[in-house]
Amino acid sequence: MGRAFVYVIIGGGVAAGYAALEFSRRGIAPGELCIISEETVAPYERPALSKGFLLPEAPARLPVFHTCVGANDERLTLNWYKEHGIELVLGTRVKSADVRRKTIITATGETISYKILIIATGARALKLEEFGVKGSDAVNVCYLRNFSDATRLVSVMQSCNGGNAVVIGGGYIGMECAAALVTNRIKVTMVFPEAHCMARLFTPKIADFYEGHYESKGVNFIKGTVLTSFESDSEGKVTAVILRDGTRVPTDMVVVGIGIRANTALFDGQLVIEKGGIKVNGRMQTSNSSVYAVGDVAAFPVKLFGGDIRRLEHVDSARKTAKHAVAAIMTSSKTADFDYLPFFYSRVFSLSWQFYGDNVGQVIHYGDFLSGKFGAYWFDKGLVMGAFLEGGNREEYEAIAKVVKFKTTVKDISELERLGLDFALRS
Ligand code: FAD
Ligand code: NAD
Repeated sequence: MGRAFVYVIIGGGVAAGYAALEFSRRGIAPGELCIISEETVAPYERPALSKGFLLPEAPARLPVFHTCVGANDERLTLNWYKEHGIELVLGTRVKSADVRRKTIITATGETISYKILIIATGARALKLEEFGVKGSDAVNVCYLRNFSDATRLVSVMQSCNGGNAVVIGGGYIGMECAAALVTNRIKVTMVFPEAHCMARLFTPKIADFYEGHYESKGVNFIKGTVLTSFESDSEGKVTAVILRDGTRVPTDMVVVGIGIRANTALFDGQLVIEKGGIKVNGRMQTSNSSVYAVGDVAAFPVKLFGGDIRRLEHVDSARKTAKHAVAAIMTSSKTADFDYLPFFYSRVFSLSWQFYGDNVGQVIHYGDFLSGKFGAYWFDKGLVMGAFLEGGNREEYEAIAKVVKFKTTVKDISELERLGLDFALRS
């Protein structure tokens, strides 16, 4: 015998926080909703961990960035959950789930039953060991996925002031952490296998701009290679990174950002899995009608891409899929299918970019790559599919979002090139 709730959310990250707010707005009774999270703090805006949290001066600290401040909405502190009668079980991992019996079992041995389950387990950072490299557990090797990782990263950074860091991976974590390390007066070498940074999204020309900017801040890039091992001292502290060609890069610390895997394991063999995530329909409902999935773990149909199933690893998608799932749960069949415009962004140093849509098809760059106000359109079969802009203002970002949302027709490529940002502003 254990406790029973109407709604249970597994995971206490971004999506869980936004789902909780939506449940409370739509009206649930005290004691109906339970959120179980492995983390020891209430849901927070995870993006802060690689930005404000890592600042050397006046860093952002909880409770300042609990959800849902990232969407300029209410801040859900521990007290908020208490006041709203929401059971928030922290520091507790769910170790198994049985969707047929509608029960879950926590690491403390408690069985909890539900009528409706929302899976919001997010993702975990890939470890170097998964690529055959040992040493992730060294005291000065850092990953960054959760609050405890970020707290550890801050303390390792503080002990390396004026020293050197190697950043492994040229994706989001690599780029944002490299910038944070520089701001903390640590000299950075970035190592990644691709020919340029942010290879999943940036064109070589866009990447060139950011790499140039990082180089101007003293960052050294070693591209097209991977590390094969660490060199450590007698206390197990990494002192150098050894690359595939034998190059030895001495270092005081290492930050690893080599991608993620969605946390689907609890449901392997029970729910349909696609694109590495739990497959849902336009109502965020999984192959079991009592179970919903949201955020990084959900693979959902994107109407804009003809219903293609995508798993998006970004905060806007986590917030909106969570809200949509709750709306679908609480309004039964009346909720329309999720209609989402994929949106990614990043802020590093004084730079800031946004991207909407899909980076497929032909690319046209526009703007001034020297002054730092530039962008690109991706278009396919004469329609705009994706748009990127660095250094824009609100009106400009809204304009590029709109041309993607409405798949604006490109009649003349040279005109698109000539008009640049004006193409979006005039559409
Ligand atoms: P998460 O926020 O990861 O939450 C998952 C939660 O589930 C965690 O609390 C975890 O502990 C818990 N959990 C997992 N398994 C279990 C279990 N078995 N039992 C109990 N609890 C469990 N995106 C952007 O668009 N812009 C950004 O600038 C940006 N910056 C980021 C910076 C960092 C450092 C990181 C790590 C990510 C960033 N992202 C950013 C991505 C964004 O944060 C994620 O897309 C978002 O957090 C996904 O929300 P989620 O709720 O699905 O998963
Ligand atoms: P990523 O997918 O963005 O980048 C992974 C990088 O790992 C690749 O670019 C590649 O350079 C590198 N890599 C892969 N295999 C490697 C190997 N064997 N050795 C060395 N490098 C290797 O993933 P990430 O940077 O780890 O970010 C993790 C998650 O956090 C993502 O879901 C991302 O969306 C999210 N995040 C997003 C933001 C943002 O949206 N601004 C910021 C931070 C984190």
